[in-house]
Amino acid sequence: MRQHKILLLIIILMIPFLGGCSNQISAPHQEAEKGLLDFSQVSLENKVIPLDGEWEFYWNQLLEPGELEQSAMSGYVNFPSSWNKYELNNEQISGGGYATYRLKFISSEKEILALKIPKVRTAYKLWVNGNLIANAGEIGKTRDTMTPQYLPQIASFEAQPGENEIVIQISNFFMPSGGLLNSIQLGGETQILGLRYNGIAYELFIFGALIIIGIYHLALFFFSKKDPAPLYFGLFCILVAIRTLMVGESYLFFLFPDLSFEIARKIQTLAYYLALPVIILFFRSVFPHYLHSLIVKMVQFLAMVYAVVVLLTPTNVFTIINPFYQIWSIFIIIYLLTRLIKVVLHKEKDSWLFLLGGLILASTSLIDIVTLSGWINDSWPPLFKMIFQDDDYSSSGQLIFAIANSLLLAKSFSDSLEYKTEMGEKLTAMNDHLDDLVSQRTRELTASNEKVEQQNFELELINHELQKLSLRDPLTELWNRRKYDEAIQLEWLRCLKQQNPIALLFIDVDYFKNYNDQYGHIAGDECLMKIGETLRTSLSRPTDMVVRYGGEEFIVLLSETQKEEAINIAHWLLKRIDNLAIPHEGSLVKNCVTVSIGVSCMIPNVGSTHENLVKTADKALYHAKTGGRNRVQYLA
Ligand code: GH3
Ligand code: MG
Ligand code: MG
Repeated sequence: MRQHKILLLIIILMIPFLGGCSNQISAPHQEAEKGLLDFSQVSLENKVIPLDGEWEFYWNQLLEPGELEQSAMSGYVNFPSSWNKYELNNEQISGGGYATYRLKFISSEKEILALKIPKVRTAYKLWVNGNLIANAGEIGKTRDTMTPQYLPQIASFEAQPGENEIVIQISNFFMPSGGLLNSIQLGGETQILGLRYNGIAYELFIFGALIIIGIYHLALFFFSKKDPAPLYFGLFCILVAIRTLMVGESYLFFLFPDLSFEIARKIQTLAYYLALPVIILFFRSVFPHYLHSLIVKMVQFLAMVYAVVVLLTPTNVFTIINPFYQIWSIFIIIYLLTRLIKVVLHKEKDSWLFLLGGLILASTSLIDIVTLSGWINDSWPPLFKMIFQDDDYSSSGQLIFAIANSLLLAKSFSDSLEYKTEMGEKLTAMNDHLDDLVSQRTRELTASNEKVEQQNFELELINHELQKLSLRDPLTELWNRRKYDEAIQLEWLRCLKQQNPIALLFIDVDYFKNYNDQYGHIAGDECLMKIGETLRTSLSRPTDMVVRYGGEEFIVLLSETQKEEAINIAHWLLKRIDNLAIPHEGSLVKNCVTVSIGVSCMIPNVGSTHENLVKTADKALYHAKTGGRNRVQYLA
């Protein structure tokens, strides 16, 4: 849908161009015969008629209106045409030279008419009925005496009823061909003025459009130098815009009448020569890989060489090499068209737009080259002649090409902008998502960290408990033998250093083998628990350590305790257990549970170990047992 709109826009833009064509083709007209056009039956007032046909021709003579009757006419020649096409005495006329032309026309009435005179190669004077009404440059018989000038213009005069006479002197030593390539048009003053103004308005419109498009794309390039396509395209538009003002109505010469012919020719030729490499570079930047690099290099090289020649040599020299460049251009245009067709066949993005613009540019440029080269021949069909008679088709073609490619560049520009925006949005969305993701992960991580901490804490507690359990006796909750083994080493070392006494009580329940719970007594384990509890609660000093050493054997380790004190504590414990009065039927000492206690006490020295302490206490215990049980026995 969008593409259809663009196509429609281009067609609308082509209308003035097509209109320009139809202007040329529409009016069927009378041709002059033997230097005479008869308009006695026609009113000229509302018409525009080209003064084509057979004109009187006086070669190498510059004759004023009154002098023609006495002079020898060279013959009747076809008008308009460069005089190089004429033959005099079976010899072709050279491009450089001078001549006088004359045409008579018959008017039915006295009226104000006007002539529209195109570019004349390369200076002229024009009289109607003996009055000089238009001229351009200075006529002369040599290159040095004449001054060339291109100045399309209109001129009014008063036509007389009956015969009227148009005399033109032309001299040329500056272009390879002389004379007129385009028709002189005759018509009512309003019609002729209208033609001129429409032409100027149209060309200025094209000029302005191309300049704006050109500057816009140059700016586009300078602000973002990534893609060279807008640079080449902008340059092309500017070159073509300059050229537009120098062809057709050639408004530039009207603006600057003193502009040197040489300089103007150089500018126009340079604009043409340089447009070729610019357009090929543009093509390459839009569709890389489609052009042969050797051809691209040759186009650039030849353009440079030709540009240098144009800059350094006068018009009549550099115009000689022009046809070669024209042929080269035609070759390149055809080459580019074939490449363009390949691009379209490959269905490259928007290539149809490029092809459309390219086709129009190519065809209008070809028309221009043919026109300006002066190759048009009388043998060409009239329609062809008419098409090829104007030299500013390419301006319209260039504008359409410029618009088509502006659309193309704008589209690719907006596509990339859209892509960028889309990517940006995606990125933002991704970033947002990332933020969410990160904070979610952070939360999860914190939670899991907390969990791990909690677990660690629990693990520590368990460890602690386990450790505790592994060092405690589960039945009595007193320290076990493992703990005792650890503690005695440390206490022994400590008392060794400080030379403090360390005492040990070895406690064994009497006749426990005989303890029986069958008579309604408490169980053996419960009995041991009660004894353990009593031992623990009877000792309040933090340094005292109560250990369940084996089945019904307990050890009490008393740090920094003298022998007497240890013996006292042992008696105190013996009494406390006796006070429990746990019934014991099997005891041979008493009818309740009793213990025997062996006491040892040492100041640690280098030669002894803590094992001596236990062994001694054990020995003391043995003596307590054999000595009658239920007693304390000390052994040194
Ligand atoms: P004595 O010490 O007075 O020489 O006589 P004894 O009967 O106590 O003999 P010994 O100390 O050699 O034997 C200890 C006995 O105590 C062995 C076992 O029958 C009993 N015993 C040891 N540990 C436990 C225990 O944890 N629970 C119970 N119920 N009985 C135990
Ligand atoms: Mg025992
Ligand atoms: Mg015992």
